[in-house]
Amino acid sequence: MIDLKIKAYELRKDIVTLIYNAGCGHIGGDLSVIDILVVLYYKHLNCSPETIDHPDRDRFVLSKGHAAEALYCVLADRGFFPKSDLDNYSGFKSKYIGHPNNEVNGIEVNTGSLGHGLSVAVGMAIAGKMDNKDYRVYTVLGDGELDEGSIWEGVMAASHYQLDNLTAIVDRNNLQITGWTKDVMSQDRLEDRWAAFGWYVITIPGNDVDAIDRAIEKAKNIKGKPTVIIANTIKGCGVSFMENQAGWHHRVPNDEEYAKAMEELEAKLEKLRRVS
Ligand SMILES: [Mg+2]
Repeated sequence: MIDLKIKAYELRKDIVTLIYNAGCGHIGGDLSVIDILVVLYYKHLNCSPETIDHPDRDRFVLSKGHAAEALYCVLADRGFFPKSDLDNYSGFKSKYIGHPNNEVNGIEVNTGSLGHGLSVAVGMAIAGKMDNKDYRVYTVLGDGELDEGSIWEGVMAASHYQLDNLTAIVDRNNLQITGWTKDVMSQDRLEDRWAAFGWYVITIPGNDVDAIDRAIEKAKNIKGKPTVIIANTIKGCGVSFMENQAGWHHRVPNDEEYAKAMEELEAKLEKLRRVS
């Protein structure tokens, strides 16, 4: 099996380069969520370029759709489309736009208007139950996204229908576009809130691929209720000057910042390769 830690840092370089070249993107959230996407796409999701239309495939919905660059880099690396397709990312007439677009191979549903992905995933999970399918449904939510009331309708429905084929992962980096989540809309005792709605709750360090892997595996064995994984992440994780900075929600690195970011990521990769 590939080394997931190394893969996550290789993809961080792809993400930073994509955003630098395109002159747009949501770099902070991409770098916080990438470890989760790597564990899903390289270890757990039962879907591939060959099976993306198969009715039994696992489904994935990136509810925090502004992290599209991270998802596109993963899908390209997994062979859903050629990496060169991203050369015109966010360019004129490109289908690779700043939020997931289901014209792109591997994207199940358009997202990015926040607050809707969980309910779509709930529908997919209900359909799986009705059709007696064994596929699982995964969705990743932003913590800022939890401010949307529609999320909590999906939380209630998933519990009501006992959707144990559904796993939601909250990318809890404690920041959103305008600042700290605790200042915008407090989320204290977040685990208790999900548990009160009837979910099984697992809290993990969210940039730790081993912890992510264990949590996703555990969720597969929870019966009679959906599982939420609260992944405590760092926005901008991997690039020191981007970490925990709301300003890097969608800032684009200049030449100097790009060079420094790539230098840091390469140094981290060298370290990881030495111990692997
Ligand atoms: Mg956030």
